[in-house]
Amino acid sequence: MGAKCRCGDTCIGPISEALEDIELFYKPCNDCKTEKIKKFSPLAEQISLDEIDNHFGSCKCGKRHLDIVMAHVLKVMIDEGIKDKKANLRNACVPLVTPGYPANSIPYLPTDSLVILSNEVDKRCAEKIVKEVREVKGVLKGDARKTVGIKDSDSNPHVYELLAGCDLRCDIIQTPYGALGIYKYQHEIHIEFPTLESPKIGILEKALKDYDKPSVLDCTCGPGTLGITCLKAGSPKVVFNDIWRPAIETTLINLEANGFPVKLSSGEKKLIASGDRFEVYSMDIRELANCLEEKFDICIIDAFPGVDTAEFVEAAGKLGKKIVVI
Ligand SMILES: [Zn+2]
Ligand SMILES: [Zn+2]
Repeated sequence: MGAKCRCGDTCIGPISEALEDIELFYKPCNDCKTEKIKKFSPLAEQISLDEIDNHFGSCKCGKRHLDIVMAHVLKVMIDEGIKDKKANLRNACVPLVTPGYPANSIPYLPTDSLVILSNEVDKRCAEKIVKEVREVKGVLKGDARKTVGIKDSDSNPHVYELLAGCDLRCDIIQTPYGALGIYKYQHEIHIEFPTLESPKIGILEKALKDYDKPSVLDCTCGPGTLGITCLKAGSPKVVFNDIWRPAIETTLINLEANGFPVKLSSGEKKLIASGDRFEVYSMDIRELANCLEEKFDICIIDAFPGVDTAEFVEAAGKLGKKIVVI
């Protein structure tokens, strides 16, 4: 299939390279500067805003400390009148680094390694941020506390708005079967901050251990993380499904990026794509239960926080022996 980013640029790289270099990717060189900016004090009282541009705090290695990049973003927001002179780094906006990984130190950012989420920016300001702050690849408008996506077929999707640039991010997820890189267009897939040990992967690992090479149905696959983990674990058959079509689009990107080549379906039945050991659908689970004939050893349900999964579990019960609600 060959995964290409919607923006037309080369945002999708081979995961293996990203994984090898992840520590180095955000590491400062010996010459990198550590500018101390107090997060709770107004930025304008600490530094003259006129000084802040792409040279501010920069190093010959091309990276800048996250706080310096955020100061640059905040400076543009203040210039544009989105934030007042009292604004500080703490309440500026949400930085989402890419690739995302569980960091134990503040990252030094190279070019195009940050997506910004803010409830306040407008299009003009967003475009200015992407143009002027070289580390920022995209700006989203939205509320970080609101979950993005679609809860079930009866509700309307909630999405952030992409105001400028490209919001394709990659999260590095550690699994017992090797690390994964999971791409997502962040305006339409919920934000998950990578942790050293993912509780969801832990639950899945336990379920997989009960079987010898189980077949798996990932009923609500999102960007494909859990299903791809099962493929990595050696499952002979994994079916991916999500009613949210943008989720399926990223599942296809992630299958390819993690070494599972995808063949798009020619449109027969409701199959969207398939590959060596997997199939991909985009349906309401209740409908999927009527469409698939086979039975699976494990059905995974990873629903939205706060969603009553009873109906999902009932539908999945027709398709699998063990239902794992994650
Ligand atoms: Zn892109
Ligand atoms: Zn440096």
